[in-house]
Amino acid sequence: MEVGHPVSRFREPLIGMQLPLGSDPRTDILRRTQAALIGHFGRIVRPPEKRRAPEWVLVHGVIGAQTKTAASNASTEGLLAEYGSWEAVAAVPLAELETRLQRQTFPSVAANRLKQCLNAIIDQRGAVDLRHLSNLETADAMAWLETLPGVARKNSAGVMNASTFARKAMVIDGHHRRIMQRMGIVPAKADTAKTYDALMPVVPQEWSAADMDEHHLLLKKLGQSFCRPRAPHCEACPLRSDCATGTGALAKR
Ligand code: SF4
Repeated sequence: MEVGHPVSRFREPLIGMQLPLGSDPRTDILRRTQAALIGHFGRIVRPPEKRRAPEWVLVHGVIGAQTKTAASNASTEGLLAEYGSWEAVAAVPLAELETRLQRQTFPSVAANRLKQCLNAIIDQRGAVDLRHLSNLETADAMAWLETLPGVARKNSAGVMNASTFARKAMVIDGHHRRIMQRMGIVPAKADTAKTYDALMPVVPQEWSAADMDEHHLLLKKLGQSFCRPRAPHCEACPLRSDCATGTGALAKR
């Protein structure tokens, strides 16, 4: 292990260890990561007027498995435009819903999950209406969302962060998780929920919901360019100096 490297100094002992608030070295690494990504890719800020209703973001996530964002955007918009309300979408026969979701990578899975999810909300709330979540703490709201069919941590965080709720919750997709693992910021085999649980306590306190959204979008760009699933392009990566894989710190362990 490279003794002097910032990651190697903390990686083993700090994951899962309670430290005084604000003292975890990963917090500074995240600050530097954000600055380096903005320096390389520029700002990616979602304008407040572009934030969608929580119900829209939920549907987008439920149907979005393994599907490009643009396709899921078009499918979600198309459903609402065609049927007029999420309650009407919930009543659409499964085969018809599957036909409407042909842009999705797995139309049948998407249709099944969506129908179950929307009807579960209607059973509990009388309508597809998530306004009650605004009265809950973010963690409690996410826990409620994760009881719904087809909703896991990425989607529950997305509803809280990327919708008009604009809460502090980190959305973690496959790119984000892979990069955090390779950098040594979260354990190597952490799933999305474990990555979220490891990451949230070390996110800089001064980061707003919009900063977290931008962080996620920037990491997605890095995952599509430098830190691809196979053969990461570490030599030119803007995060290399803080990355346990890029500096070879992980390989020397
Ligand atoms: S240095 Fe390599 S492993 Fe680390 S984030 Fe960049 S591309 Fe990924």
